[in-house]
Amino acid sequence: MAKNKTLDTLIVGAGFAGMYMLHKLRKQGLEVLVLDEASGVGGTWYWNRYPGARCDVESVEYSYSFSEELQQEWKWSDRFSTQPEILDYANHVADRFSLRDWIKFNSRVESMVYSTRDNLWITTTNSGEIYKSHYCVMATGTLSSVNKPRFRGIDDFKGDWYVTGKWPHDPVDFKGKKVGIIGTGSSAVQTIPIIAPQVDSLTVFQRTANYSIPARNYSLTLEEIEKAKANYSEIRAKARDNRAGIASMEVGPYSALDVSDSDRDREFKRRWKEGGTNFLAAFNDIGTNAESNEKAADFVRARINEVVRETKVADLLSPTNTIGCKRLCADTDYYETYNRDNVLLVDVNKTPIERIVDEGIKTSDNVYEFDIIIFAIGFDAMTGALLSIDIKGRNELRLKEKWSEGPRTFLGLCSEGFPNMFMITGPGSPSVLSNMMTSIEQHVEWVSDCVSYMSSHGKNAIEAKLDSENQWMDHVEEVAADTLRYSCNSWYVGANIPGKKRIFLPYAGGFPKYTERCNEVAAKGYEGFTIA
Ligand code: NAP
Repeated sequence: MAKNKTLDTLIVGAGFAGMYMLHKLRKQGLEVLVLDEASGVGGTWYWNRYPGARCDVESVEYSYSFSEELQQEWKWSDRFSTQPEILDYANHVADRFSLRDWIKFNSRVESMVYSTRDNLWITTTNSGEIYKSHYCVMATGTLSSVNKPRFRGIDDFKGDWYVTGKWPHDPVDFKGKKVGIIGTGSSAVQTIPIIAPQVDSLTVFQRTANYSIPARNYSLTLEEIEKAKANYSEIRAKARDNRAGIASMEVGPYSALDVSDSDRDREFKRRWKEGGTNFLAAFNDIGTNAESNEKAADFVRARINEVVRETKVADLLSPTNTIGCKRLCADTDYYETYNRDNVLLVDVNKTPIERIVDEGIKTSDNVYEFDIIIFAIGFDAMTGALLSIDIKGRNELRLKEKWSEGPRTFLGLCSEGFPNMFMITGPGSPSVLSNMMTSIEQHVEWVSDCVSYMSSHGKNAIEAKLDSENQWMDHVEEVAADTLRYSCNSWYVGANIPGKKRIFLPYAGGFPKYTERCNEVAAKGYEGFTIA
């Protein structure tokens, strides 16, 4: 890790993407270094330690496929893993593949500048350390830059406040506390049922009601684990063939409108009973046909009404928007929690939050007193982490400037003007619309193949062509426009961050189609790139 030595590749981020990238490139014999702001591996699973944090992709699928030995030796406990277990897994991987020697923790990357003269990237960290590298890989994560609470008066609050995506390492004591939580997305939906039984009172400030499907988590039996281990190659192949990179996602063959009312209801009930976000795949047009979507939404609203005892609360919890527009949540007892006497739901559309005051939260009609406030208000998704680094490419071009009207990439992997810089699961790739592990592996393998091609062909610089980038971005827009998600407000389009340019960020054409295109580009000698 000699600082003065020029590295082959510098990787930013020691999450699942950065760790696998490091492993691949080390195996190619390259000099590689990973920098991460955190003091340990795990990326999003290092930071998101909030109570109840759990993955909503099944454990056996939310894992690396690249090592058969790893697949066989690791034993998942639950159908959907908890954050501590995923973090244990990340640490196990780091140890098993001896990755730690090549990772520098507590190192936040502040700037990255491309020197045209030397064809090198110069990376500077918060402690002033400087690294030179031939390539750089941005494994900075998609949901890693938190949406910082900007509520007026936040510094006046006398109690403690926490952000779900930057949760402290020491346990928070909720016993007997008056707690307020702002937000009702996936993070809040997981936190609320866990802390409600511990606190004196819990007040939930809801702006938009969200659809949530019971996760129906359970402990995996030895038999289930053995079965998965015996069938991993089949599971992985099936995942790569699925639009979301998820083997267990069985996409219904029919439109929700082409079946009888009773058949439709039966299928929704089956999916509801099975649990998890695969609910949305019950019919093949829930994401594209408004009428089909409404059928699914009606079904979930009816379930909310069955579960929540007070009609007024059930109505408030019943979403009115497109189901799947915002990322569907998976929960354990989320709606049930509102039947507790110590849980109160506040509609901030009716009574907006005016400010934080020393004793709690002031809405237009009340002051709610709290010991603890939790901000579960999401992330500056897909571009936030990348743009938090001052990246300057060819001719002093800043990525922030280039992306001022929204991100521009070729395949979500590279951006014109930024030679030898790769992004893992970047904007314009399936990324957050897929199982992140499937997408991470595909990207990492594409990048390592590309780096190896460059070296075997005696080439030094690769850069996306503007034409190919423009064509790709048009295609990204075109496929997104066919979906209902395109026109509604969510973090998929940056609508959750004030001032963020509205653009559909991930690639909605599906994982198999996307992979095919990436493979085609590589097979044609990296067609669409300038190579020198
Ligand atoms: P999120 O889905 O963006 O939810 C943020 C919540 O905060 C929304 O309810 C939002 O309301 C609310 N909010 C934001 N600013 C507000 C304000 N100023 N006043 C009042 N309410 C405000 O964020 P998240 O829950 O952290 O989840 C983000 C993504 O991370 C998920 O969609 C998922 O992809 C991933 N995630 C996954 C898991 C899992 O695997 N189980 C768990 C957690 C997170 P509006 O809707 O009105 O904007």
